[in-house]
Amino acid sequence: MINQADLGLLDGFERALINHRLNMVYQPKIALADGQLKRVEALVRWDDPKLGKVPPSRFVPLAERHGLIDQLTQWGLRTTLRQWIEWRDQGVDTCIAFNISALSLEQLDFPDLVERMCRALDVPTDRLVLELTEGSTQPLIKLMDTLTRFRIKGIGLAMDDFGVGYSTLMQLRQLPFTELKIDRFFVDDAVTSADSRAIVASIIQLARSLDLSVTAEGVETEAQLHLLCDLGCDVAQGYWIAEPLEPELLGQWQSDWAKRWAALSKGRGRTSRPVPVAAGSRN
Ligand code: C2E
Ligand code: CA
Ligand code: CA
Repeated sequence: MINQADLGLLDGFERALINHRLNMVYQPKIALADGQLKRVEALVRWDDPKLGKVPPSRFVPLAERHGLIDQLTQWGLRTTLRQWIEWRDQGVDTCIAFNISALSLEQLDFPDLVERMCRALDVPTDRLVLELTEGSTQPLIKLMDTLTRFRIKGIGLAMDDFGVGYSTLMQLRQLPFTELKIDRFFVDDAVTSADSRAIVASIIQLARSLDLSVTAEGVETEAQLHLLCDLGCDVAQGYWIAEPLEPELLGQWQSDWAKRWAALSKGRGRTSRPVPVAAGSRN
């Protein structure tokens, strides 16, 4: 059963999808070893003339429930891969992180489809990382074959929102992930709460021992960034570094950020331990 409000939303969303009225924005993630742009996370946006800005947390689950998720995923991925080519041609060298619904993974030929899209648009598969969260329909562990096929094709796999919801240590051990993303819930009060700080430190250690790259999301303050550097986190993402950006703003952000990072490093040189170097082999 679908209620009246969701029905209106679903109808509007379907029209926006068909008429190409959705947008992708891109949030930079930086390597904490050197401040360089590591990759960008693609995030979908829907600004409806009648409904206004509808957040993805509202329409993505609706698309999942009503058979529109594959269409959304394919449109979003194609748009993002084309954008990567545009950046490359402008001299912006980066990788893409793309959110995938666990439902799309149930399509057996999904890894082949993603590979074909990369090939058709001339994007090397090792420039792509798929971010996955545990779906409520079936545990990721049941999708082992699909996930392994992505890795064989050179596509990276990040476990998103680690530490909340359904993600488990068992899955981390058994599934071929390349990256772990610490949920922003823990990053949020890591500076002020010893408990959250201990959790963040333990997740970073866990990722290290499993040879996974570790990203902290939701960095909203300079103090959080310093703490994450000190704890040896590899990558950071959050509003303090950059909000999700329109694609044409990435180049400008990169040069502004280089100046901010230089100033930060200077400050850290006087007051803190050196920034730890992340393992170079991790993607
Ligand atoms: P997510 O994958 O965990 O994405 C991160 C969310 O946190 C984004 O919200 C981003 O704008 C927000 N964020 C980034 N930095 C900060 C910060 O410093 N503080 C706070 N408070 N928030 C921050 P957004 O764009 O609203 O997306 C929400 C969720 O919707 C995403 O969570 C993801 O699960 C889903 N989503 C977004 N785009 C797509 C998409 O294209 N496909 C699929 N399947 N899901 C998507
Ligand atoms: Ca994500
Ligand atoms: Ca997340």
